Amino acid sequence: MTDPSYRLPRQVVPRHYRLRMEPDLDTATFAGSEVVTLDVIEATDRVELNAAELQIDQARFVRGNACAHAEVEYDEERQRATLRLSEPLSAGRWELQCRFKGILNDQLRGFYLSTFDDEDGNRQVIATTQFEATDARRAFPCWDEPDFKASFGVTLVVPEDLMAVSNGAEIERAPLGDGRVAITFADTIVMSTYLVAFVVGPFEATPPADVNGVPLRIVAPRGKMHLTEFALECSRFCLDYLATYYGIPYPGDKVDMVAIPDFAFGAMENLGCITYRESALLVDDDLATSAEKMRILDVIGHELAHMWFGDLVTMKWWNGIWLNEAFATFMEMKATDAFRPGWKRWLEFAAAERPWAFKTDELAGTRPVEFEVRSPAQAEGMFDGITYGKGSAVLRMMEQYVGEEPFRAGVESYLRRHAYGNTETSDLWESLDGSSGRPVGKIMDTWILQGGYPQLTVRAEEGGVSLEQGRFLLIPDPADTSTWKIPVQLRGMAGGEPFETGVLVEGSRVTVPLGRPVDWVIANAGGHGFYRSRYEEPLLDALVDRLHLLDPVERFVLVDDAWTFVEAGRSGVSGFVSLATAFRDEQEQAVWGSLLGAIAAIGHHLVTASTRPQYERWVAGLLTPLADQLGWAPAAEETDLVRRLRGRVIDSLGRLANLPEVVEQARSIHERRVAEPTSVDPEVAGAVISVCAAHGDAETYETFLDRYQTVSNPQESLKYLRALASFDAEDAVDRTFELIVDRTVRNQDTSWVLARMLANRTTGPYAWSKLRDRLDGILEIVPPMTQSRIADGFPALSHPEVAADVTDFLAENPLPNAARAVEQKLERLSALVKMRQRETGAIAGALPE
Ligand SMILES: [Zn+2]
Repeated sequence: MTDPSYRLPRQVVPRHYRLRMEPDLDTATFAGSEVVTLDVIEATDRVELNAAELQIDQARFVRGNACAHAEVEYDEERQRATLRLSEPLSAGRWELQCRFKGILNDQLRGFYLSTFDDEDGNRQVIATTQFEATDARRAFPCWDEPDFKASFGVTLVVPEDLMAVSNGAEIERAPLGDGRVAITFADTIVMSTYLVAFVVGPFEATPPADVNGVPLRIVAPRGKMHLTEFALECSRFCLDYLATYYGIPYPGDKVDMVAIPDFAFGAMENLGCITYRESALLVDDDLATSAEKMRILDVIGHELAHMWFGDLVTMKWWNGIWLNEAFATFMEMKATDAFRPGWKRWLEFAAAERPWAFKTDELAGTRPVEFEVRSPAQAEGMFDGITYGKGSAVLRMMEQYVGEEPFRAGVESYLRRHAYGNTETSDLWESLDGSSGRPVGKIMDTWILQGGYPQLTVRAEEGGVSLEQGRFLLIPDPADTSTWKIPVQLRGMAGGEPFETGVLVEGSRVTVPLGRPVDWVIANAGGHGFYRSRYEEPLLDALVDRLHLLDPVERFVLVDDAWTFVEAGRSGVSGFVSLATAFRDEQEQAVWGSLLGAIAAIGHHLVTASTRPQYERWVAGLLTPLADQLGWAPAAEETDLVRRLRGRVIDSLGRLANLPEVVEQARSIHERRVAEPTSVDPEVAGAVISVCAAHGDAETYETFLDRYQTVSNPQESLKYLRALASFDAEDAVDRTFELIVDRTVRNQDTSWVLARMLANRTTGPYAWSKLRDRLDGILEIVPPMTQSRIADGFPALSHPEVAADVTDFLAENPLPNAARAVEQKLERLSALVKMRQRETGAIAGALPE
């Protein structure tokens, strides 16, 4: 259900918009006109549509010789304009002709300005758009709801020396004789208003590549063409891969991938004119880590996946955003995995996106994936780890349950059936039920319509194993009796014989007969299940003794589950320390990622000054064999993931074990790299920057700041910005705050830089006190839709007195656009305060002497 007061009346339906936009980059304003072909379904003397921060100078309805002028009334709160007529428009086809004016804002939404300094240090200005969810109405009057689909014919009037891009291919250029040119683009397919885009500025484009007849270009601010090669290679692959997967040709007439210097999100799937944050598109192949390149490949796969799933077929209303985003995330994994199998994307998915979702979904303050959305503002709260992480993880779980080809066939039939139309979530389930012959909809409802996720308790029984489900909550609630329909894949040995079997757990408990006593069992074989497994003894010991028989993803899941049980107070830290020690021969970087994440958390929350030397010796002892094996430089023919592992090991030896010889070596490698950037492996380079920051003085800070401001590619600049937020000194915190306030840090990055400062073990509490004292000023800088990312830093502040201050202060001074995120992070914080109080005393006994 949706609240009718947020929906436009349906008696007038737009079919085609002819738009002419004239942005003036010098005065930060624009003028526009539109001719909207529309059907009047029932005669009416008032037409309502959306408009915000627009002044409509003229509006008239024309049919043949008939012409009716309308009076315009604005409803600012509901972002609407009502066009009133003295006589009703008769039913049938009409044209609305409109002239209007607006502003190019600096809020990263609607039609907005972005700036960059070119190679000569001159400030350059770009006008660009970001319309999702409901900001098309800031650029032109429109029926700004996703099911009012129409086609769009766009003309942009721009200075002759600038480039202009929109959704369709350029079909005409008409010089106006005043230094400007009117560029007309081909009509689009019928699509939602939130997918319209205009980009104007000093850009350059790669020559078009031909992908099955579709011209594809990378468009970047002038002077950055040397950073486009990898994106072009990824885009060509993904466009072809996705058309093949969907079994449907690309729905537009061209693809432009456009890098924008100021961008609130990662990227935006405007049909044929996809916009990106620079760091999500442009990269120097020789200097970037594989994780940085994977991010680009991911985002490209994600946005291109939307061209069909989202653009060709679109949700009816904003409650469907989750499926749009979850599906594109799922497809991004598939495309990335197909392009670079060596990066083991699904293992990385289990290690990154899935835990990201767990971290929210194990809180009482989580939300169901799909919920009722009345106002569009509520839809903004859907762009979080639950939508992207949990949504895609449960889709992956279903795909593995029904089989990859039946799943793909269901997606294809869904897209064919609803092409150019709008859908509800249940439409996809219907197609998948049909293609798989399994009750996909019934199973998915238990994952989508209720919040939270289950824990599966696994016990050895006479002749088999029993599985018992119950909701897993970081702070347990015995009254919660939620259950799920869980597709469980079991693998192991019974009576010396291997077995593998699937079971759909529906009730609270099932027994799986194996015919023989179980030797060992993995209750989430392949690691696709969105649940945690808790093995009762002797099954846990049996697994720890047989780590070599488990797949990397299964070892990862074992570690991740074990650490979470410590956070939730279901196990003690000493058990985790022994488990981690059993992994000393591990070679898989994703598994080490999980181990080192937990080890860092132990160092952050549980280790005190008196136990730190003992902790540092433990970490060093655990990692030294691996460090000796890997050395400081890659061997020839080494895989990207081994290189990434080396980076992790150096980083941890430098920052967690604080080994002086590693810090020294990191400093000298950093100096060498500044002089000769390609002389150091990118993974080692990333680690040494991080180690140098953790042990850096004021002089190092200034060097890093200079690097941040002068390096020419986005990943390098991000590495240094991340480092600037990680120095262990209050002076450094002061300096970074200054950089935020004087806008040296772009406002697109401000919120995560703040979160990173809060998460620092030693200076986090100081950073909090600064943030608290100047919160109002900071909130003026942070774009509203990125505010919730500040809250990511709160759980680190687990000193009881600091945590109490954070909680009390935010109760009095809420972050206006991040209420749910703040509530969730404070719940996690309170669990971590309890862990600190519970386990700090145990740490000396848990760590080896
Ligand atoms: Zn998306």
